[in-house]
Amino acid sequence: MALYCSSLGSQVPRAGRALLAGACSRGLSASSSIEASPLLRSGGFIGGRWVTVAATFPVLDPASGTELHRVSDCGLPESREAVTAAYNAFQSWREVSAKDRSVLLRKWYELMIQNKEELAKIITAENGKPLKEALGEVAYSAAFLEWFSEEARRVYGDIIPVPMKDRRALALKQPLGVVTIITPWNFPSAMITRKVGAALAAGCTVIVKPAEDTPLSALALAELATQAGIPAGVFNVVPCSRQNAASVGEALCTDPLVAKISFTGSTTTGKILLKHAADGVKRVSMELGGHAPFVVFDTANVDQAVAGAIASKYRNSGQTCVCSNRFLVQKGIHDTFVKKFAEAIKKELHVGNGFEASTTQGPLINEKAVEKVEKHVSDAVNQGACIVTGGKRHSLGKNFFEPTLLSNVTTSMLCTQEETFGPLAPVIKFDTEEEALAISNSANVGLAGYFYSQDPAQIWRVAERMEVGMVGVNEGLLSSVECPFGGVKQSGIGREGSKYGIDEYLEIKYVCFGGL
Ligand code: ADP
Repeated sequence: MALYCSSLGSQVPRAGRALLAGACSRGLSASSSIEASPLLRSGGFIGGRWVTVAATFPVLDPASGTELHRVSDCGLPESREAVTAAYNAFQSWREVSAKDRSVLLRKWYELMIQNKEELAKIITAENGKPLKEALGEVAYSAAFLEWFSEEARRVYGDIIPVPMKDRRALALKQPLGVVTIITPWNFPSAMITRKVGAALAAGCTVIVKPAEDTPLSALALAELATQAGIPAGVFNVVPCSRQNAASVGEALCTDPLVAKISFTGSTTTGKILLKHAADGVKRVSMELGGHAPFVVFDTANVDQAVAGAIASKYRNSGQTCVCSNRFLVQKGIHDTFVKKFAEAIKKELHVGNGFEASTTQGPLINEKAVEKVEKHVSDAVNQGACIVTGGKRHSLGKNFFEPTLLSNVTTSMLCTQEETFGPLAPVIKFDTEEEALAISNSANVGLAGYFYSQDPAQIWRVAERMEVGMVGVNEGLLSSVECPFGGVKQSGIGREGSKYGIDEYLEIKYVCFGGL
């Protein structure tokens, strides 16, 4: 196997060589920038009160590995308390008029916007993403509260014509009840509001169990919910350590007072929660893993495709479920695309601490995440892939990884079979449209997919045949609060955001008026 990828004119060492580890990241300290934050909290938030327990768990700065803060490690008593609080609050929240719920959500949205810098700093500190991206997340996150404050007032039922003259039939939409919401660390704020906005607008009450890596954003949202006047018990947060996640998760998901489970995270954890839901026949929303194909046809505008590839692959250092995970490039455009993609990576991407203005690539969330990228790179290289650029940990510290581009990739390699969730772009060369679709659709998941083409007939064919919940056509970033987010196959069940998102938290009740 060649040490260098000469066909593309680059000379880069193979992966696995000289992995630099351990060094601490230079630059601003994350803890110093949030420890004075007025939104920093340490306890759980249950029934409108801050609840502390003796046991705590650390929240780490992914850039340096140092401890940012300690948070109460809630357990079964707090879980039960939260379910009871949410259940009691539901009895009155369901009676609050849609207009009044709308006003409260709008107030919460406005407070998020007023506090956007503080919220963004907390996200960058605990998640590592560049401050500019964190500010973007706050805007996106707040927009869900704004959107659902508007949707709250547009929940209509139906009057159904029936053949019996002495009857009238109605379909009423009613809130489900208490919802358990379990969220991941990659969007510590937006993954919460996307669910909570819809749930509260519908008249449900919620218990949020945030990811153990990023509980501070969830607690900051709770503080703003209080300031907005969201009634006690409507929005509860139960933070806990990874050790307690399974037991707290089980308690929150199996309690008979809980009507629904809404989860964003890995497919593995999603399957556990689906089993909990099955026992109680509860409603679910599941937003699980992806393995997005990014297809560049010979008909593509190559510069547009490169710009889309950078945006869709390297945002949040590759740690989003809609990030492109495998690049399929047709043979006529292949070499040009790879060359230009490599140039753009070197020119536009800057690895660093998220608090530094020039940074576009922060650290990965933890060392386990880095190890997965390393494993995917070394497996690919061992099977004949070429490193075009990057390929190893970055000298800034053990959680930093160089933006990486691999060519000569085949479908037998691990990186084309499972989600990497890191800054690795593997490129497979293909011949025909049929072949590209067959590879794209071979995955057992289907969240996002992207393709670049200037041929209208091909655009329709591929958009319709790609087995995913969301397709970007000549576009690498597709999330928007107005549009339905969700997947097919093992990527999940249900849709979030958009006019459809609120239905996930509503039950349809048929009322038959007889004897008229
Ligand atoms: P990751 O491995 O990237 O952390 P997970 O799907 O494991 O992805 O985590 C997403 C969320 O699911 C987190 O809030 C985590 O604490 C939670 N979680 C993990 N395992 C379980 C479980 N067995 N039951 C309930 N929640 C869980």
